[in-house]
Formats: sequence, C-alpha cells, structure tokens
Amino acid sequence: MAKPEKFMKQMRVTCHDGLFRLEAIPFRIAAARAAEKLNIAGDGEDFESLERLIAEAEAAGAPRAAYRVSYLDERHDEEVIIDRQRFRSRVLSVNLEKAHRVFPYVVTCGPELEDWSKRQSDPLFAYFADYIKQAALAASRKFAFGYIKETYRLSKFSTMAPGSLADWPIQEQRPLFDLLGPVRETTGVVLTESFLMLPTKSVSGILFPTGSSFASCMLCPREHCVGRSAPYDEKLYAEKYRKQAG
Ligand code: SF4
Repeated sequence: MAKPEKFMKQMRVTCHDGLFRLEAIPFRIAAARAAEKLNIAGDGEDFESLERLIAEAEAAGAPRAAYRVSYLDERHDEEVIIDRQRFRSRVLSVNLEKAHRVFPYVVTCGPELEDWSKRQSDPLFAYFADYIKQAALAASRKFAFGYIKETYRLSKFSTMAPGSLADWPIQEQRPLFDLLGPVRETTGVVLTESFLMLPTKSVSGILFPTGSSFASCMLCPREHCVGRSAPYDEKLYAEKYRKQAG
C-alpha cells in the first residue's frame, strides 16, 4: 500500500540552552519487511491489519531526539569528566583518549507512538505495534546519528550507552541525564528511579568521534542476543582496555 505523502511530517530543529532537539523525525516502515520479521504472510487479513497499523503509526508518531555538544574536561584511568559531569567507566575513558568534543544524546519513538500502541487492545495488534515502535526508534536513531555526523563533519563515530556493559552500569544514566538537561521537557522521555527510560523504546548514550569502530557488543560475551550488532572479540578487552599493572 502506497503511503500518502501527507503522513510525512516535517522535521524541525530547535535549541534551548545548548540542548538541541530534533522534532518529528520522519520514518517509513516497509510493510513487506515487517511481515517477514513478524512471521506473517505477505497477503491476507493480518497483512492488511499490519499495513493499516503502520499507516496509523506514521500519521500519529513523532519520534524525537535531543543532544548536546559537550567537551571533555578530564580523563583518568577509570573515569572521565565531561562538562563537569563525572562518568565512571574504563572503556569510555580509553575510547575517549583522542576525543575532545562528544555528543550526549537521547532518541525516542516518542510519547505519541507509545500512547497509540497502548490503545491496541487486540494482542496481535499490540504485538505489531511493539515492532512498529522499535522500527520507528531504529530509523530515528539512524537519522539522528546521521544528522550529527553531517552537521559536525565527523568522518567516523561510535557510541556507548550506560548499562550496555558491566564496566559502565545503568546507574550512569543519572549523570548522563544531568549532563543533557531538560530531557523530559524536550523529548517526553522520563528516567525512572531504576534508571530505565519511558517510553521504553528510547535509547541514550554518548556519541564520540573515533578512528576505529567500536560497539559494546565487541566486549559482551552474551549468547543469542537479538540486539547484537558486532561479534564478540574475546581478546579485545585484554589488548586495548585492561589497565596495565604498575
Ligand atoms: S550483545 Fe546484546 S546485551 Fe551484549 S552489548 Fe550487544 S546488544 Fe547489549
């Protein structure tokens, strides 16, 4: 089913006190690919429902992102200080060895899409809606990272997120949100007391320029993870991140 152009929203960029907001990030979801991922036939009643839900989500959704341009104040063996916020992570410290300017960020599918998905009372439609939110988040993250790369002329970048490695635990969401500033007001994302984000289809972290590609998955031995983006490299920690004795 062709998607009417009226469903495409106009992305806007605003800045308040150094916090940039990308609003109404456009996203498109291919129904055929979604059907494949959701394991349903590419025709029939379920496929028609999926197409309808995708069209609704594209009309209702307003994914957004917020980021700040920040600077490294200090770097130590096990921690870094960025714009007066302290982050405790050996891996982050090593990864920022040559970085001066970094980009803390939050990207979310947005509260509108979250509310829309909560209205899906049919379990099958709720399952479709969850996939659609995840796809909208993935597209928005790609868009936001591409926007930062272009705007600041970064030749190569990587990202790290609190909670992705034991080295940088989820509690480090607190200084990240303190560094970003009014995230709730600009994106609608709320950080809970257990450091999870609502809407749940949100991601946060620090984007940094780098000469060599890094993904936390390279240091994570977890098996059968659907989110894995790079193979586990069992020698990498010892070769690059382990602190030298003495
Ligand atoms: S493999 Fe999975 S759990 Fe481990 S860092 Fe990657 S996405 Fe996270």
